[in-house]
Order: sequence, then C-alpha cells, then structure tokens
Amino acid sequence: MKLNTIVVLGGGPGGLYAARLLKLSHPDADVTVYEQGVPDKTFGFGVGLASRTQRNLRLADEDSLNAIVAASHPHEMSMRVGDAEVRLAHGELLAIGRATLLAVLQNYAHAAGVNLRFGERRTVADLDADLIVAADGISSATRTELAEAFGPEIIEGEGLYLWCGTEFALPSAIFTPVTTEHGTFVAHAYPYASDRSTFLIETDEQTWQRAGFDISTRETPTGETDQVSLDYLQKAFAQTLQGHRLIGNRTKWLRFRTVRCRSWHTRNVVLLGDAAHTAHYSIGSGTKLAMEDAIALDRALLEADDVDEALAAYEAERRPSVDHLQAIAERSMAWWDSFPDRMTMPVEQLMIAYMTRAGKVSVERFAESAPQVANPGLAAFAAVDVVDVPPPAKLTEWILDQALTAGEQRFVNRIAPEALRTAVGTVQIDISVRPWSNAATKLIVDLPPAATYWLTGPDHREAILDRLDIAERIRRETGAVLVVDLPAEFRADAAGAIASDRVDLVAFTS
Ligand SMILES: Cc1cc2nc3c(=O)[nH]c(=O)nc-3n(C[C@H](O)[C@H](O)[C@H](O)COP(=O)(O)OP(=O)(O)OC[C@H]3O[C@@H](n4cnc5c(N)ncnc54)[C@H](O)[C@@H]3O)c2cc1C
Repeated sequence: MKLNTIVVLGGGPGGLYAARLLKLSHPDADVTVYEQGVPDKTFGFGVGLASRTQRNLRLADEDSLNAIVAASHPHEMSMRVGDAEVRLAHGELLAIGRATLLAVLQNYAHAAGVNLRFGERRTVADLDADLIVAADGISSATRTELAEAFGPEIIEGEGLYLWCGTEFALPSAIFTPVTTEHGTFVAHAYPYASDRSTFLIETDEQTWQRAGFDISTRETPTGETDQVSLDYLQKAFAQTLQGHRLIGNRTKWLRFRTVRCRSWHTRNVVLLGDAAHTAHYSIGSGTKLAMEDAIALDRALLEADDVDEALAAYEAERRPSVDHLQAIAERSMAWWDSFPDRMTMPVEQLMIAYMTRAGKVSVERFAESAPQVANPGLAAFAAVDVVDVPPPAKLTEWILDQALTAGEQRFVNRIAPEALRTAVGTVQIDISVRPWSNAATKLIVDLPPAATYWLTGPDHREAILDRLDIAERIRRETGAVLVVDLPAEFRADAAGAIASDRVDLVAFTS
C-alpha cells in the first residue's frame, strides 16, 4: 500500500516508535510527529521494561532496542516487610528514565527521517493525511472528539498513587509497606540510572484523608508538586531512602484510570498506546503495550491492501494481548489496593501471594525460578521445615494435600468433603459479581453468619479467579472457612490461592 502522508499525534514512546517504524517501512512517505511539549531534558522518573518486551522490540528494530538497553539500568526485585526482606533473581529486568527513553526514541525517529515538531498541539480536525496515528496518551483528545466511533470507557481505581523519585540507585527494586499513625503506604521503588530511582507510593482513601492529603492535593496548584505529601513520605520511607530526599516532578496524588475502547479506529484515524488502553502500573506494561501496538500497526500496514483493512487487522491482532494484560492488571491493582490486609503474612509467603496475585504465574513456576523465596514461603504456609518442601513439579499436589485446622473443624487435605456443602453452618453462594465491585462489598456486608462459605459459579477461568479473589475478601472479613468450586484443570490456580491464604479448601467440579 502506498502512503504519502502519515501524521502522528503525540511524541510519547508509542508515537515516536510508531513514527520510526512507519518511516522505515514507507521511506517515500512524509511522516510527521506533533508533540505539544518540548524535548524534556529535565529530571523524569523511570519505567520498567520486562524481558519479553525486549525480545519483541529486538525483532522489530534491533538498533533502537540496543540504544534503549544501553541507556537502561538492570535490577533485581525484593520485598521488605518490617525487618524481613526477600530477594528475587529476575533476569533481564530493566528500567529507564522516561526522559532518556524519549530522547533515544526521538534520535532514532529523526535518524529514520521523521519530521519532529515540538511545542505544537494539534487535533484531528487540523490535519490532512493518509493516516493519522493518535498516540496522544491517557487523556487523548482524539478519543474524546471521536467518542462516538471509539466508544471509550474509563474507570478510576479506588486507591491513590503518587509518582516521584530520588537521587540514588536502590540496590534492587523493592516493594515495601510502611504503617504510620494514619495508615499504610506501600512503595514500589526501582533504580533506573546509576543515581536515580523511581518511587511509586500508594495508599487507600481513608489513610489519604487521615493524613490530610485530600487538603494538600486540593491546595497544590496545577503543574506543581504536592510538597506536603513528599515531606511526610520522605520521613515515612526514611529507612528505604537511606537519608536521601524524595523529589517531585509535577507530583500529585492521583487515581489510576483504566481506559478501554469499543473500537480503536475510524476512517483513517487509529488510536495507539494509552489513548486506546491503559493497564495498571503495578504490572509495568503501559510503555510496552504502546510500543508493541506500534509494531503491530506497522506490520498490518505493510501486509494489507488499504488503510481500512490494515487498521482492522491491527486491532484484531492487538486486542487479545491487550485484553489479557488488562485483566491481569485489574487483578494486580485490586491486590495492591488491599495490600495492608496481608501484612501479617510471613514475607516469603507474601511473595507467593504477590507472584500468583493475577493468575499469570503459578506456584510451580515461581518455585522453579526462585526456590530460595518460594520454598521458605511454602514452608511457612504448611508449618514444615524448608527441606520438606518438594521440588516444583510436585508442589500443586503437595499444597492440596496439606491438612487444615480451622477452629473446631479439621480437614485431612484441601479438597472439601462433599458432605460439607450441605452441612449445618455452611452457606452456598453463587458468585456473579466482580470481586472488588460495590456489589461484592454489599454481598459481603449482607452475608448471613456461617462457619463455612462455599462459593459456586461459572467454570471459565476469569470467573474462577474472581471467586478466589472474593473468597479472600470474605475469609479476611468473616474468619470463616472458604471453599471454592472449580474444574480440576485449574488445580494450579487452586494451589496458588491456597498457599497465598486466599481460600482454605477447593472442590473439583470435574
Ligand atoms: C505512575 C505510573 C507508572 C508507570 N510505570 C510504568 C512502567 O514501569 N513501565 C511501563 O511500561 N509503563 C509504565 N507506565 C505507563 C506509561 O507511562 C504509559 O503507558 C506510556 O507512556 C504510554 O505511552 P504513549 O506513547 O501511549 O502515551 P504518553 O507517553 O502519554 O505520550 C503521549 C504524548 O502525547 C502528547 N500529546 C497529547 N495530546 C497532544 C496533542 N493534541 N498534540 C500534540 N501532542 C499531544 C503528550 O504531551 C505526550 O507527550 C506508568 C504510568 C504511570 C501513571
């Protein structure tokens, strides 16, 4: 297909990368990026790039990936609760300053022959081109202007987060909660340069209000940093900060917005990156999704006969992976929103709960990659010596085989006896609500008292993960024994949930 003019709205990672790939594939086309900001030479915080992303970027454009990797900072992961800390070997985890990533992508777009126009805000109505790529970010004006065609849905998370940084490199990425007189704050922090780390700090609404941050947020003028919050958090995270300051960059408390759209294209306009979809930062995937969109768009335009066909093919290709990651991100966001409830768990077991939180990683896979963390966690769960934890391939059955004593009730293993379903004191509930919805909260508040709650519902995996998540909420709030029905093919999910104290027992329905 011959394209003469391509305009990209937005010079974020998605827009710049798309512009470079499109110019390389259509060397005769005039490719222009309009970016409302000016090239950011100032301090910016880092984003993480997982190893799978690096593979995809390497296949699409090895040169720019090499430059990105050269400017990145490798790190490991750890979790610290109180004085207990566990480290996790996690190959090829990289982080890069956002400003650095943009500078690399600007250079490579320029080198390919892309026309970069900074300080120029445009709307679709201003533009005339064969193809318009709207990579204008989470607050995309294109998405709003053409809302009828794109059908956007935007959901705000419950918790609040603040994105800031510090001027030293942490020895590894760290997740660490701190409880003050007002409540719990959790930091996700990681180094992204030899003298820089990102600090993402989150909390719940009540803690935020008790600390007076509703007021400081209101009183911080647009475009400035909420210094009151930074000063407070600097004291709270003094141990992790090792005497360093927290630094803001237009830093304010925000609620994460998850964006979904019914369609990503209309006529010759296509949404890309955050403009089309967002995924909670705790799975570190927004930049990756935007850059992988660019790869798919470039390929679709090379293979199709016309723009319509290409944009439809791009969306068809990307939707399944984006939907999948958004589902994982939603569970991850809810897990972090409810993090303080789990702080009494031994830190190694908490790490198992963290790794299996979104249904992406099984206990077996975690134990294969990090036995030094998984095995003590499993030993804590089963109250055995660490040497008695079996090898990864046997873990699922071993977990299901653990006895349980809950008050007066004793179970020889984690498979619920069928007689319990109709026993006095058991309440069966058919679950048809999302685990963190208001409807779920109402369901929990209205529960009749019981010694055991037995949760039933559809047999597909998302419904099962939902039941396991809601089981955890009910378990923590009532102290009752929780049983979840699920098909035997999902026994690995069952084992992960049991070892993470999300559920006590399971019943296999097939
Ligand atoms: C707290 C936090 C932490 C994150 N951490 C990670 C992480 O660790 N790893 C990761 O992969 N992702 C992370 N992300 C997500 C990541 O920042 C975004 O997903 C990514 O930047 C999306 O890229 P984009 O190109 O789609 O949009 P953006 O990066 O938002 O770029 C859009 C650009 O468009 C410009 N623009 C907007 N409108 C116009 C217009 N009308 N005319 C001209 N220019 C316009 C804007 O100025 C902006 O530069 C995080 C996000 C948050 C909020």
